[in-house]
Amino acid sequence: MSTESAAAKPAATPETDAPRDFIRQIIREDLANGKHAAIRTRFPPEPNGYLHIGHAKAICLDFGIAREFAGWCNLRLDDTNPGKEDPEFVEGIKDDVRWLGYEWHDLRHASDYFEVLYCAAIKLIEDGNAYVDDLNPEEMREYRGTLTEPGRNSPHRDRSVEENLALFRRMRAGEFADGSKTLRAKIDMAAGNMNLRDPAIYRIRKVTHQNTGDAWPIYPMYDYAHCLSDALEGITHSLCTLEFEDHRPLYDWFVDKVDLPNHPELWQHMRDAGFRTEPAKPRQIEFSRLNLSYMITSKRKLAQLVNEGLVDGWDDPRMNTLRGLRRRGFTPGGIRLLIERLGVSKQNSVIDYAILENCVREDLDAAAPRRMAVIDPLKLVITNLPEGHEESLTFANHPKDESFGSRKVPFARELWIEREDFAEVPPKGFHRLKPDGEVRLRGVGIVKCEKLIKATDGSVAELHCTLDLESRSGMPGADRKVKGTIHWVSAKHAVAADIRLYDRLFNVPTPDDENDGKTWLEHINPDAKRIVRGWLEPSAAEASPEQRYQFERLGYFVADRLDHLPQSPVFNRAVTLRDTWTTKQNA
Ligand code: ATP
Ligand code: MG
Repeated sequence: MSTESAAAKPAATPETDAPRDFIRQIIREDLANGKHAAIRTRFPPEPNGYLHIGHAKAICLDFGIAREFAGWCNLRLDDTNPGKEDPEFVEGIKDDVRWLGYEWHDLRHASDYFEVLYCAAIKLIEDGNAYVDDLNPEEMREYRGTLTEPGRNSPHRDRSVEENLALFRRMRAGEFADGSKTLRAKIDMAAGNMNLRDPAIYRIRKVTHQNTGDAWPIYPMYDYAHCLSDALEGITHSLCTLEFEDHRPLYDWFVDKVDLPNHPELWQHMRDAGFRTEPAKPRQIEFSRLNLSYMITSKRKLAQLVNEGLVDGWDDPRMNTLRGLRRRGFTPGGIRLLIERLGVSKQNSVIDYAILENCVREDLDAAAPRRMAVIDPLKLVITNLPEGHEESLTFANHPKDESFGSRKVPFARELWIEREDFAEVPPKGFHRLKPDGEVRLRGVGIVKCEKLIKATDGSVAELHCTLDLESRSGMPGADRKVKGTIHWVSAKHAVAADIRLYDRLFNVPTPDDENDGKTWLEHINPDAKRIVRGWLEPSAAEASPEQRYQFERLGYFVADRLDHLPQSPVFNRAVTLRDTWTTKQNA
């Protein structure tokens, strides 16, 4: 629970190492002024899809800030839209939040508060702040005016409190047809901010709700339910993205007019039923969305990719859902690092995808043990070792961190090396193996290429090399320098594996931009997934699912969560060791 993590850090972080963003600044001031005794936040996803990388920013802020200031954060599923929630998505969201390293204080649903919201609506009517309207949605739109023209009052706006109460109770009793009546806030049809032109509070929808069944024929609107849910849970800082900035006056209007802290009669029944509610007056603060180049951050479009079979599901490693990134081998630490580095502001921008990759590399460089694997094999035979020669070599698991320990790697006369580590006609500056050239075999010694064996199609089938025995570890020539070092695996010990090589799902930085006359779907990169047959040193095959390794010189890989088995290994490449995309694009 958040209380444990909360204990880890004192409430007031020293100014010196305090993060400088404006939200933390506001919170620090609120604490200093005694405005709040504790910080309470919430993360409010709509469970109509899996979370994506953009949500990670909101999660890191909502949960991260609560933790930093020794408060707590609720996970609240926004299920005001009946029929949209899927239990699969609810479980997925919970799992993803935990994967990112956070734990909620309470798990709530907006629908937990339907009764409170209903009672609050009655209060609004009694106070003359809401009315039942008979205009249909189309008429309502017409009366609403435009950005340049004020709206007009509905002919039903001046109904008496008694009439409104009677009609609203009948709406609740299910007496009217869908869309035939609406409960609206009575604010100002001429307001410059369109959100204040008597927005809807309740609409009639006779749809079975996943959590409340058929108990309600009316459902509250998001703008109404969200702010009051915040107030009811005692949320102090309600962090959301910039598109809600124009909704803030409405947020405050509902919070003030309903005034939950001073009206316990509206929520006492919840407390009686065991809910730990301590209503407060929340403050909404907006920040800019996280947008990444070469990615789509819209649940609707991600759902379309899944539903049209353009990817292999929500957790396809090409997807920028948290599930997908996880399956790809990205780390929660790398994602948190990205969010921390980018900071928080009100400036909308598109972040280069390469920055995310770099954060993941940085995290994995420190955290991933090293192994050897060959993904495009070429046979190398060491002719001066006897047939059947076998050794067990000791390799450190991490070049910079001894605590990773070491492992045994079998070595034998026949090896697999990477095909691209040999060039029959080497380009200028090629420091790997070439005819009559020398190269160091990682952890073994220096080999010289004496002979090429060709296949009937003219391609190189095999290299015959000699090993300079004097260059082996512990021998006088062990320090002899050659320019290149290459990795290898013992052919007879290696375990065959499916290696899935992933690239960016879109081949343009802003797939959403339709100015080029193409739809976003036309920018899908057909080469974003490639499966090859590779060879692993035996200890890599033994990995448990989700174990991440650096395969030396190839990149960071993860044993697939679902498909990997030691006897038939499946590894996904998370990232290459360096940013090859940028160089490729500039070539
Ligand atoms: P989408 O536009 O993908 O459907 P959404 O905003 O409708 O996303 P919600 O489930 O309502 O998705 O989002 C939950 C929370 O996550 C909200 O507070 C929202 O502001 C935040 N959020 C969503 N997308 C991003 C993003 N790209 N960057 C930062 N926060 C985001
Ligand atoms: Mg939303």
